Amino acid sequence: MGPGRLSRFRRRPASDWGRFPGVKAVVLHGPHDLRTVTLPRPEPGAGDVLIRVGVAGLCGTDFGIWAGDRPVSYPRILGHEFAGHVVAIGKDVTRVRVGDRVVVEPNYSCGACALCREGNRNLCLARTAVGIDVDGCFAEAVPVPERCCWPAPASVADEDLPMAEPLAVVVRAVARAGVRAGESSAVVGAGTLGLLALQVLRAAGARVLVVSRTARRFDLARQLGAEATHAVPDGGLVSAARTFSGREGVGVVVETAGTPEAVTHALTLVRPGGRVVLTGLPHEPTPVQFFGVVRREVTIVGSMIYQDEFPEALRLIAAGAVRTRPLVTHRFGLAALGDAFAAHARPDSIKVAVFATE
Ligand SMILES: [Zn+2]
Ligand SMILES: [Zn+2]
Repeated sequence: MGPGRLSRFRRRPASDWGRFPGVKAVVLHGPHDLRTVTLPRPEPGAGDVLIRVGVAGLCGTDFGIWAGDRPVSYPRILGHEFAGHVVAIGKDVTRVRVGDRVVVEPNYSCGACALCREGNRNLCLARTAVGIDVDGCFAEAVPVPERCCWPAPASVADEDLPMAEPLAVVVRAVARAGVRAGESSAVVGAGTLGLLALQVLRAAGARVLVVSRTARRFDLARQLGAEATHAVPDGGLVSAARTFSGREGVGVVVETAGTPEAVTHALTLVRPGGRVVLTGLPHEPTPVQFFGVVRREVTIVGSMIYQDEFPEALRLIAAGAVRTRPLVTHRFGLAALGDAFAAHARPDSIKVAVFATE
């Protein structure tokens, strides 16, 4: 972050912060075991800033940890999609000031290894994930390194800011696909990542077919710019891709669902010579017919979180090229975090927002 960007931080006096002798936090002690506690007010360490959390998003990663599918070391405060105001800064902090409204990039790397030095900080083996490896944002305040803070564009409402995190994921995925204007593309999955990927592809000038296990979100997908939709239990994926593209399949597929079936669907939709970007994380073994990959010269690319995509994600939201508000289906206060997790599993849920500041 260069000093030029700093002028775009919006400041507001954090005078009421002084009233907080401690901070409320919701701590996970084991699967489904959430306890609301008041912790001593954290003091930011050298190079860190303390964020008073405004709005946070809850995602499938949080849900998997809460449900016990993904172990963490307990006790742990979850939550990694968030924005808020800086209320205290540690020693050596130079670019962020008290009162700044910031969006947090919740992953930071060691900065010293060969991967970090060559710019691949998202691949750093010593990467720290906020809300997983260290405590996260389901609390009134959380300390993070200064370098995790991005200035929130003044025109973007608090509620639209946490979506910059999943959006940065798909900005990178679409960039790795090398999409060209006018090209036919498909998104597999119509969850948060899929509905954001569809909009990023549209912003890049691509035509988009959305493929999902259910037609439930197809009306919304069309409102957000999908030209066509296809529900996979119907079968007929090959003909759907051919009809939509007017040729042997679509040029680019962005896979966001992270299931073995979705990977198979992506490889079925793509035309010979096309590209498939995988950004969902399939945790189970995934059978792939590599005969077709070779025979059809398909390029398969992995895309892991983000490197430098936060500014572009914030730009797309501020410009209105990506609409995040229609994806927020449920809203809860921090004290009702257990209800927020339950809501995430409902069929009508896309993104659950958690308001840490009443
Ligand atoms: Zn997430
Ligand atoms: Zn590193």
